[in-house]
Amino acid sequence: MKSLKKLTGELRYNKRLNNNIIQNNMTPLDIVLFPDNGLREVCKPIPEMTDRLDKLIDDMFYTMYDAPGIGLAAPQVAVQERLIVVDVSEKGDQPIALMNPEIIQSSGSIDWEEGCLSLPGIYGKVTRPSDILVRGMNRDGKIIEFEANELQAICIQHEIDHLNGRLFIDHLSNLKRNRAVKKFHKEQADMQAEQS
Ligand SMILES: [Zn+2]
Repeated sequence: MKSLKKLTGELRYNKRLNNNIIQNNMTPLDIVLFPDNGLREVCKPIPEMTDRLDKLIDDMFYTMYDAPGIGLAAPQVAVQERLIVVDVSEKGDQPIALMNPEIIQSSGSIDWEEGCLSLPGIYGKVTRPSDILVRGMNRDGKIIEFEANELQAICIQHEIDHLNGRLFIDHLSNLKRNRAVKKFHKEQADMQAEQS
């Protein structure tokens, strides 16, 4: 998930790059953009933690902080496996990596103007449960459960949607989705025209 407009900007970017989560051996990955088919696939469950996944998690955090974003799902870096990384903290010092994440309980309701690193430049108001109980495997290979609320709950739901081939624009009305997609394609075309 992309940072919200109010949270983005130089200050947040510098904070994130200065924090000790980012190390020299991390590699920024290319982010898959809409309408790539890979964003529409149901991703495979992860049977166990491996060194490959450990490196992927580091690289996904790097890519997310660098973007800057507050969440990233594996299919957004062309890996069709059930892995998400999230950090909604102001300082970028509360990274959560979760494999095979599931929502076991949900309640409440919250509206949020969401964005997505795979759909840069477009935003739309989505309504989701505000309080969730999440289960998944952490990077130590342990099954954990925790409660998430508000922005963290929104972000986790947005990232789990990615693992099921769903994007935030799918939650919008047809009219709003068509408008958003049109705007996205136009901005991408304008950007390409500028670059050539
Ligand atoms: Zn997204």
